[in-house]
Amino acid sequence: MNYKNFPMVPRVVFGRGSFNQLSEIVAPKRLSMNAPFIYLVDDVFKSNSWLTSRISLSYDDRIIYISTKEEPKTSQVDALVEEIILNTKERPSGIIGIGGGSMMDMAKAVAIMLTNEGETHLYQGWDLVKNPALYHVGIPTISGTGAEVSRTTVLTGPTKKLGINSDYTPFDQVILDPELTKGVPKDQWFYTGMDCFIHSVESLEGTYLNAFSRSYGDMAYNLCKEVFLDGTPSTEEAQDKLMMASWHGGMSIVYSQVGVAHAMSYGLSYVLGTKHGIGNCIVFDHLEDFYPEGVKLFKAMKEKHDIELPKGICATLSEEELDTMINIALGLEPLWENALGKNWKKLMTPKQLKALYLKM
Ligand code: NAD
Ligand code: ZN
Repeated sequence: MNYKNFPMVPRVVFGRGSFNQLSEIVAPKRLSMNAPFIYLVDDVFKSNSWLTSRISLSYDDRIIYISTKEEPKTSQVDALVEEIILNTKERPSGIIGIGGGSMMDMAKAVAIMLTNEGETHLYQGWDLVKNPALYHVGIPTISGTGAEVSRTTVLTGPTKKLGINSDYTPFDQVILDPELTKGVPKDQWFYTGMDCFIHSVESLEGTYLNAFSRSYGDMAYNLCKEVFLDGTPSTEEAQDKLMMASWHGGMSIVYSQVGVAHAMSYGLSYVLGTKHGIGNCIVFDHLEDFYPEGVKLFKAMKEKHDIELPKGICATLSEEELDTMINIALGLEPLWENALGKNWKKLMTPKQLKALYLKM
């Protein structure tokens, strides 16, 4: 048995208001006056000076606002990298991502592509990155994806939705300031929070589970239960807990894998553009045969927070589109193997998967 040797985020700050320490944290990493820090910020904060006025810009540092209407694409990373190269005198000192999972992934991908040749889609897969990334910092403003701690950056490319999974992908520094999540709309809070809950269920119920993953998975699972079933969602305590749940959920899948919900959600995302959080919820709601306990809890949480999920989203798809969706989902072999074991192909045929999609 050859055990994997995983990289982890080497530095992390946790605390309400810790965002104010940002400039002090990055200052020693400045390479020269001509090597700026580039801040990639979700454009939801464009008119929110409460957050952006606290970013201190020196020399040629700048903020680039990015829309998260669609999830990150490899072509978008290519364009951004080109724009940064053309408009900076020297290679930047660092990339700082501020926002949700989308912005975490953009920041990681841009930091990798500023030091690696060619187009971004060439690096979608496992361990294809050759050179260390630029110094990169992640500052989540919504909790759940675990992208702040993971070894991947999920991107939609010309032929697949797949992460750049490498030892160079994790952030060099993360700032966890739960206060930054206070403006998240309720539905989005639920969808992204459920991503974390689903990470924990898929990891805990998977065949890849070991004690390392279980310890993190249990923590994420219980914190989600406290946040979504027991507590008052808008309290500071709930914000703090969900931020740590996200971290643990991400750590749990480092050594294991996600499962059926994620595989199917990737299919929805590829064909319909359904976003990760809501896509996982739409799928998970129908997975009681695979995750009975988890789905029961999910339904209780959904009811408690009055969440209505879209229905019939696959009803009008053509046969061809359904086939693409099925191929994308079944192509994620490690996810199915984790969920159903080595014989998964016998347990989940394209026909069965189609029937499941048509229920959604
Ligand atoms: P997101 O980043 O798209 O953000 C969701 C929405 O919340 C956006 O509209 C955003 O503008 C808004 N938002 C974020 N913070 C806010 C705040 N403080 N106040 C008000 N609005 C705020 O969504 P997400 O669910 O965080 O991330 C989904 C993405 O993460 C997907 O692209 C998915 O593929 C990726 N992902 C990556 C990993 C990984 O390990 N790399 C894991 C899971 C998901
Ligand atoms: Zn996820």
